[in-house]
Amino acid sequence: MARKAQIIDGKKISAEVRAELKAEVAAIKAKGLIPGLAVVLVGENPASQIYVRNKTKACEEVGIKSLQHTLPGTAKEEELISLIRALNADSGVHGILVQLPLPAHMDSDSVLDLISPSKDVDGFHPYNMGRLMIGNALLQPCTPYGIMRLLDSTGTDASGKNAVIIGRSNIVGKPMAMMLLKRNATVTICHSKTKDLPEKVREADILVAAIGRDRFVKGDWIKEGAIVIDVGMNRAPDGRLTGDVDFEAASLRASHITPVPGGVGPMTIAMLLKNTVAAARKASGL
Ligand code: NAP
Repeated sequence: MARKAQIIDGKKISAEVRAELKAEVAAIKAKGLIPGLAVVLVGENPASQIYVRNKTKACEEVGIKSLQHTLPGTAKEEELISLIRALNADSGVHGILVQLPLPAHMDSDSVLDLISPSKDVDGFHPYNMGRLMIGNALLQPCTPYGIMRLLDSTGTDASGKNAVIIGRSNIVGKPMAMMLLKRNATVTICHSKTKDLPEKVREADILVAAIGRDRFVKGDWIKEGAIVIDVGMNRAPDGRLTGDVDFEAASLRASHITPVPGGVGPMTIAMLLKNTVAAARKASGL
């Protein structure tokens, strides 16, 4: 059977977002404002080092000034707290990102709570989560924010649609639910204790899978014509990068589907840049 689904091309759409931001940054620079992002890395975690490098490079490409602050893995929590306080007070810094995970001796939640909500470009601060919850978001978590842009690219109106989200993390599942609810979708959040998951998924006009399990969602769970967004980033036994959805089988039934890689992944950094520019504009009233 031939593939039915149109591919939602996250690489292309994220490049569009970055191009829009580049133009926006050039325009605000002409008015004397240079958006600045401080990226804080604690320790030598190799994956974190790569993420930080990618974020710094992406900033440079659109004209955001990025400042990296590295603390040794042995640093005391107080050192990180003083750094965050200094960055909160620095008017040239509009966004602060603390790369997770932090070393085990640090309490991530209390550290993240110290970031000024107006500079919280990851959108993880309880204040920003609360704003999202009441439908009046300030800075939104980047991955679900990027997913909304992918959904918009399909031309679909989520209003009245059944949206099913698998996963209830604070960084993806829960904020995703709030964003879809705001668009008037009827939202169901599923998790590891959900009964009859395949039946729930069969109701989904819009499916967001954020589980972290290699091709867990099977093709025959997918409703004909559904939009399938695959957030998962997994390693298959053969070493390939895979999503949470069986892409080939789901493509036979879905109307639109994101690939892994090249779907949701590239959007996350693009939306971090978007949040940084938004934070800079808000801080300076531009
Ligand atoms: P997480 O915090 O580990 O949450 C996973 C969720 O999946 C949990 O809510 C869990 O349920 C649920 N789950 C696990 N097994 C399940 C099962 N058998 N049936 C139904 N639900 C099940 O993960 P996350 O941080 O949200 O990330 C999810 C995936 O997205 C990972 O692969 C991650 O690498 C990827 N990701 C990608 C990006 C990107 O930019 N592309 C960004 C973030 C995350 P319980 O709550 O009941 O445990």
